[in-house]
Order: sequence, then C-alpha cells, then structure tokens
Amino acid sequence: MNVNVSVVLFTADLRLHDHPPLRAALDGGRQVVPLFVRDRGVTEAGYGAPNRLAFLADCLHDLDAGLRERGGRLVVRSGDVVDEVVKVAAEADADEVHLTADVSAYAQHREARLRRALEADGRRLHVHDTVASAVPPGTVTPSASDHFAVFTPYYRQWAQQPLRDALSAPRAVRVPDGVGSEELPSRAGVTGVSEGLARGGEAEGRRRWANWLRGGIARYEERHDDLAGDATSRLSPHLHFGTLSPVELVHRARRAGGPGAEAFVRQLAWRDFHRQVLAARPGAARADYRTKHDRWRTERTAHDDIEAWRQGRTGYPVVDAAMRQLRHEGWMHNRGRLLAASFLTKTLYVDWRVGARHFLDLLVDGDVANNQLNWQWMAGTGTDTRPNRVLNPVTQAKRYDPDGAYVRRWVPELAGLPAPAVHEPWRLRGLDRAAVDYPEPVVDLSDGLARFRRARERG
Ligand code: FAD
Repeated sequence: MNVNVSVVLFTADLRLHDHPPLRAALDGGRQVVPLFVRDRGVTEAGYGAPNRLAFLADCLHDLDAGLRERGGRLVVRSGDVVDEVVKVAAEADADEVHLTADVSAYAQHREARLRRALEADGRRLHVHDTVASAVPPGTVTPSASDHFAVFTPYYRQWAQQPLRDALSAPRAVRVPDGVGSEELPSRAGVTGVSEGLARGGEAEGRRRWANWLRGGIARYEERHDDLAGDATSRLSPHLHFGTLSPVELVHRARRAGGPGAEAFVRQLAWRDFHRQVLAARPGAARADYRTKHDRWRTERTAHDDIEAWRQGRTGYPVVDAAMRQLRHEGWMHNRGRLLAASFLTKTLYVDWRVGARHFLDLLVDGDVANNQLNWQWMAGTGTDTRPNRVLNPVTQAKRYDPDGAYVRRWVPELAGLPAPAVHEPWRLRGLDRAAVDYPEPVVDLSDGLARFRRARERG
C-alpha cells in the first residue's frame, strides 16, 4: 500500500476553497485522487431531482476546471458509493480516504459502511466535521439532551463558539496516473429542468457571495421578507452543494459587521440548528419530530386540493405565485415557502410529507435537513414553539407584497389588477370578475382554520 496517496471523496462539499479534507489529504506532499461518485443509492432513494442534477453537473465541471488549473483533475465514477471508493482506493493504492461528515440517515449509514469496507482492506477513513456545518452537530448541547430542540438557546451558544480559520484553495494537486474517470455529466443531458434555474459551481458561488457582501447584505435585516424585492442572498443551492463554505461565510459576514450581516449569520445558524436536530434524530426526515396525532388529509383524500396547490391554482394569489416561482426557478423565496407550507398543512390540513416531497422534487437547494425540518416547523410537528400558528395568506400578502408586484410577476392572469384586488380577486364583482381567468379559492380561510383547530383539539 502506498502511504503517499489519499482519496478525497467529494459529496456535498464541491469546492476547493476552505476544504479541510483536501488540505489534510495533500499534507506532506501526498498525491490525491479527487473522486466524485454518482451514487446509485441517492437516485434510487428518489433524491435525483432534475434541477439538482443540472446544478450538480455545473458544480462538477467547475470543480474539475479548478483542479486542472492546479495540475490535477476530477475522477468521476457511477455505482454504489462504497464499492466505487473501495475500487478507486485499490487502483490508486491509497492508504487513506477523506470524507466530509453529513447528517442524514443516508449519509450516516454511508460513513459507517465506508469505514467498515475500508478497514477490511487495511485503509483508514478520516471524517471531517467542520466542512458542511459552521458549528458541527454535537458541539453545543443543552445539559439534558444530545441536541437543542429550540432555536433561541441554541443560537446563544452557537454564536459563542470559536470557529477554525478558513483555508485557502490549494496551489497544486497531483493526481496519480492510471486512475480512469467517466465523462463528466452535463447540464444539457438532464431533462425536466426549470427554465429559470440558477447556474452552479464554486466560481459562480464565489461571484454571488462577493456581490452579496458588496451589496445586499447591508440591508438584509430590513428587506429579507420583501417578496418582490428578492433581497435575500440566494446562496442556498451553493450551501447545499458545498460550493461555498459556511465557516468562511460566517467569518467574512462578521468582519463586514452591521445588523444586516448579523441577521444573515443568524440564518446560517438556523441551517446548523436543523442539521444538529437531524444528526441526532435522522428519523425526523420522515416521522413527526413531536407528534400531534394528526390524521392528515392525503393524496387519496385531498387529491384535487393537493394538485391545485402543486400547480399554483389554489385561488390564493400569493400562495400560487410562490408555487409558480418554485416550478419556474427551482427556488422559492423563504416567505413564500412559509406561506405555501402553512397553506398546505394548516389551511388544507394535508400531510406535511406531501408538500416536502413536492419541494424536494423541484428545489435546487432541496436538502433533507432544511426541507424536512422546516416543513415540520410549519406543520407544528417540529421545533416551532407555537405549533398551532396559522399564516393568513391575505394578511401576509398585504404585508410582504404590499403593492402586489410579486403576485403580478408570477400570476400573469392578475397582472392588470390594482393592489387590494390582486390579493383578493374573489372580491371582484360582475364584469371585473368575469374578465379575470383565475380560479375561485379552493377553501374558505375560516373553514380551513376551523378544520385545523378541531383536528388539533381532538389530537
Ligand atoms: P438567505 O435568507 O440569504 O439566508 C442565507 C442562508 O441561510 C440560506 O442560503 C440557508 O442556507 C440558510 N437559511 C435561511 N433560512 C433558513 C431556514 N429557515 N432554515 C435553515 N436554513 C436557513 N432551505 C434549504 O436550503 N433547503 C431546503 O430544502 C429548504 N426547504 C424549506 C422548506 C420550507 C417549508 C421552508 C419554510 C424553508 C425551507 N428552507 C430550505 C429554508 C429557507 O427558505 C431557504 O434556505 C432560503 O429561502 C434560501 O434562500 P437564500 O439563500 O436567499 O436565503
């Protein structure tokens, strides 16, 4: 076995800047095989959504280009991730493999399988935990539990944690000869991609981040809920695929300072918060974290309502605008996500898993921890301390889209209506109503609210 060769298995950490596994692998002038496995298990588990596959293809091309600039290249294989790593390690005669820690049940299982398989072959697995989280799961815990179930006390401790320094990208990467690669997947080869999907890759992520630091971040606190203003960072797909490092983002945002940067760092803490919940309770991706004994309506009992929601035809303009943004861009504004999720789970009383699945099918940032736990938060089965709160889509629309620009952008049928009517088109009468080709509300808000309250009282 060659003690001068390492394999770095890239997963959701597709970058060269601030990459501790790569830095450790290169230590002492070792040769490295930078490997990405198109893991059959991920596709078979239903996580291979076209928008994410297209974004991933961009990321892999960019990573390969970055490695080539440094004298290396990316090795891509397809199949079972553990089998492929073991094969590549044998081909390269590597004595160790480096991997970024991750939190889902799948990732935890992958790590355990890899460790067993590599050890059986006499090789070591090194797992690095400050790559995908700024503050890794388990670093801060309350006295009586292995994780925090409430954000505010978590955040208080999270904010006090010292972070390691961010690492620069390596200058040179030497890849041993004789390790073959498949052709890199291409975005053009993926069908069913949203028309307005953002571009992926580390270079694109760093460009967006630099613009955000120069521009948007300063006013983030006051503008982040403005639906039409689109004044959030849109960095979520880059954080999901790891083309940007949360450690580096926190350091640089803190250096920038001010209330906008502070509010932005707090959102990054939300990301770590959900990750530490899922790491401790991986089953929360599917089962209620805190059950309310709901007997949800499902695909079988609420098919038409669910379909109207998916298609953005519920008759509630702000909900429909958000759902259409999701379909068109593979991304949705956070306030839109909250409204769409509250509407499905509380106003329509549909199982949160139905909504979470639809989001995962379309979101480019679709992420087991953030998606499933935010859905549970909104459904009141998760970590929200006010689990029965219901967001009213009309009052919320008037507050966060006061002149109706977001609705007009995504629901062109309503584009000609003035501000009050654009949020409540059912109030139009006679010819005005007849002129608008837009559905009546699928449910009356007070009926929906009463149904939800009855259900929770029963539970
Ligand atoms: P910004 O407002 O610029 O925030 C910066 C970063 O902080 C984000 O990129 C994200 O990484 C993190 N962040 C922000 N809000 C949250 C939050 N509530 N929880 C956890 N992290 C957060 N986010 C995902 O990354 N993937 C998902 O699959 C996902 N599904 C969601 C489903 C629902 C029902 C809800 C209510 C929220 C979901 N979110 C998800 C969280 C949030 O909506 C997105 O992270 C955010 O809208 C992304 O836009 P941005 O990058 O402009 O965020």
